[in-house]
Amino acid sequence: MCGIFGIYNHPEASNHTYLGLYALQHRGQESAGIASADGKQLHHYRQMGHVSEVFTRDLLKKLAGKSAIGHVRYSTAGSSELKNAQPFMVDYSKGSLAIAHNGNLTNAFLIQSELEADGSIFQSNMDTEVIVHLIARSREKTLVERTIQALKKVEGAYSLLFLTEKEMIAVRDPYGFRPLVLGQLKEAPVIASESCALDLIGAQFIREVEPGELLLFDKEGVASYKPFPQKPLSQCVFEFIYFARPDSFIFNRNVYEVRKSLGIQLAKESPAAVEMVVPIPDSGFPATIGYASEAKIPLEMGMIRNHYVGRTFIEPEQSIRHFGVKIKLNPVKGLMEGKRIVIVDDSIVRGTTSRKIVKMFRGAGAKEVHVRISSPPITYPCFFGIDTPKRSELIASSHSVKETQKYITANSLSYLSIEGLRKCVKKEAENFCYACFTGDYSVPFPPEVCSE
Ligand code: 5GP
Ligand code: MG
Repeated sequence: MCGIFGIYNHPEASNHTYLGLYALQHRGQESAGIASADGKQLHHYRQMGHVSEVFTRDLLKKLAGKSAIGHVRYSTAGSSELKNAQPFMVDYSKGSLAIAHNGNLTNAFLIQSELEADGSIFQSNMDTEVIVHLIARSREKTLVERTIQALKKVEGAYSLLFLTEKEMIAVRDPYGFRPLVLGQLKEAPVIASESCALDLIGAQFIREVEPGELLLFDKEGVASYKPFPQKPLSQCVFEFIYFARPDSFIFNRNVYEVRKSLGIQLAKESPAAVEMVVPIPDSGFPATIGYASEAKIPLEMGMIRNHYVGRTFIEPEQSIRHFGVKIKLNPVKGLMEGKRIVIVDDSIVRGTTSRKIVKMFRGAGAKEVHVRISSPPITYPCFFGIDTPKRSELIASSHSVKETQKYITANSLSYLSIEGLRKCVKKEAENFCYACFTGDYSVPFPPEVCSE
């Protein structure tokens, strides 16, 4: 999880990057950063916090130049602290280099150990830094050649942006794990994790960066390279289920349309005899609309979300510390008094939120609370950049559906079937990674990583 954005050769590069990151904020809320290039040198700023908190008008002015890349971070590899914020920037023998990464490398730890044994000193503890070291050590002549040589050594998921004084590079790994789209703002090429970032700045969607494709932007224009051996496509299906914004177009589909079809399929597989369908905001909305229309049951906004729950939060007194989801969500009292309801959400990870939500609905007077989930049970952790925790923390890895139902205190619980999910992804079903549901990982990773 993370969002990246880049723009090449536009007079307002850092302002547009700021807006692009704003649109990608859902992909990571821990830190934000921008690196810009003015043709002679790079300028760089990153900080913990939301995009709107991190940047000021003055800071954006200092990020001078006609090209910029930016990053919003949700820590998957490496801890949540400033030294791990991106873009990551270094000076090396050939100049300056900034990098922004979405995804997770599966062999970063091994490469880092080798490099450290050989004298390299790492500044951060994130996987992305190994790419920088590999590029800096490469003897190849051009940036593209050095980048290709470095990336041939790493395994796993990467959608990447690189920026030097004069060039920008975008790359998507050969498996295509994470999305990456190409757009255009007037003459300037734009790269973003999701198309919603293009919409905000008024850029035109051109196409997706292809899996295994490297795009070089320089004074000559754009050049496309396909330097890596072809791999089986492994696009992350969880982007469709939860992660991407519904208004985005990624992996050749509109996310909203896919999510709605997941709800329709869920209603076909697991109807419920109830009077009302209630979405869990925001991520459960599109699937709930599909569910309600297929089941022909009225949909009600029975749960309201406070959208202003920020990162900076005064630590409350012990007595009110365990607010948890109550801060964010509150049911509409009276609406469901004595009623049987079905609530639809996109996924259950640990089960703790779902349990609290069911209790909140009961507290609001619901007679029966049935839970429908528009994805299959998450039974395996992800090593490709989605923050599904250790296996032991995933409730579905150690609890049957019946046991989970008991734990979350629902009257009934059903998940979407894997076949149902594949059906909704349609004819391209085989191009997706379902490892969090099946354990079928397309890239091998060191066994010590997944032992818990
Ligand atoms: P749980 O019941 O597992 O505690 O929480 C389920 C909720 O977490 C769902 O509403 C789902 O949208 C949300 N969720 C699913 N995956 C992720 C994730 O990777 N990160 C965060 N922050 N929330 C997630
Ligand atoms: Mg949610």
